[in-house]
Amino acid sequence: MIFTYRYIKHDIEKLQEFLDFLFYDVWLFAEGTFNFSKLDKNDELKKICEKLELEDTDWGNFFNGRIAWIYDEFAKIDDDNFKLELIDYYHNNNNIEALCSDKTLEPIGYSKLEAKYSDLEKAINSLYSKLYGSDSPFNLDAFGQLSKKLLQSHYKAFIDKNNDGICPFCGVNSIDGNIVSTKDAYDHYLPKSIYPFSSINFKNLSPMCYKCNSGNKSTNDPIEHIKGRKLAFYPYADNHPEIEFSFQLLSNNIKSLTPSDYTLSINAPSNIEELETWKRIFKTDRKYRANGSVEYYGRYDELICNKHKAKEWYEDIYDYYENAKSISEIEDAEKYYKKVIKATTRNPKSVENTIKRKFLEECKNKGLFKANIS
Ligand SMILES: [Zn+2]
Repeated sequence: MIFTYRYIKHDIEKLQEFLDFLFYDVWLFAEGTFNFSKLDKNDELKKICEKLELEDTDWGNFFNGRIAWIYDEFAKIDDDNFKLELIDYYHNNNNIEALCSDKTLEPIGYSKLEAKYSDLEKAINSLYSKLYGSDSPFNLDAFGQLSKKLLQSHYKAFIDKNNDGICPFCGVNSIDGNIVSTKDAYDHYLPKSIYPFSSINFKNLSPMCYKCNSGNKSTNDPIEHIKGRKLAFYPYADNHPEIEFSFQLLSNNIKSLTPSDYTLSINAPSNIEELETWKRIFKTDRKYRANGSVEYYGRYDELICNKHKAKEWYEDIYDYYENAKSISEIEDAEKYYKKVIKATTRNPKSVENTIKRKFLEECKNKGLFKANIS
């Protein structure tokens, strides 16, 4: 990713705390049949569950029914070692930062859980797959209305703190700010369809532009626990390397550039594997097949090949040089070129700015801006 978000503390974290309590204090110690006295150590959650029982709504019955079902499945496990392993897995699945930076840390996926205890997997999946979104029982008043209130309030506070207006995963598209009525969707960085336990953990959730979220990342797994663990950038990391772009023209055919007319390379020398993960998940770089043909072009190729981007950047400067009829006019063209370059440095988080600068500098180095004074 191009830069990282800053994490914010918010009341919405309460929902994950309820789930932590259920896992560590209730389910792991399951014996016999579930009843509300098992929630005695968390008075707030106990009162909510009792209220849901009286209200007798679909969502309320769903929530109470699922926590009881998971309890029953835990009660059937007589393998204490597995329970101990599960404690580690639960901790790991919620330690997103460590999973991104340490390949020896093992998460658990639904597939592994299913292979070991398929009924437990069914029970856990049936609750966790519904915790986030329009069908979530957390949308009930008793939980503070996840979609209508908590998410709205979280988004506002989040954007107040993260107000760059650019998606950090691509550095190109905008992220809806608090002025407009629309909001960008939150992405589950570790997909909730693959990993249990972290579907409402906000260290695993962050706003992402539509193209990154639905068009590219989708349910791809950044840390690839099945195909072979991979390092990945963590969206809330305090330290994030600068992503370096370099651009080289292979032809002077600026008016109708195609990807074969240039090279665009993206590097992060101290985080090569994380960078490759990011390129793969968000399709930011070209991918070649084994036979050398192109499987897909990178998303930034669009900035170079779209006739309203690089071609217009070039023509804007070119016209100044082309129309210069005296030494002082050439000097003015030089000044204008420098002004445009300087403007691209104002927001270093914008990849469009960076690519524009690299592209124009390369045009200049190649002598493509020339005055026609005879
Ligand atoms: Zn994006």
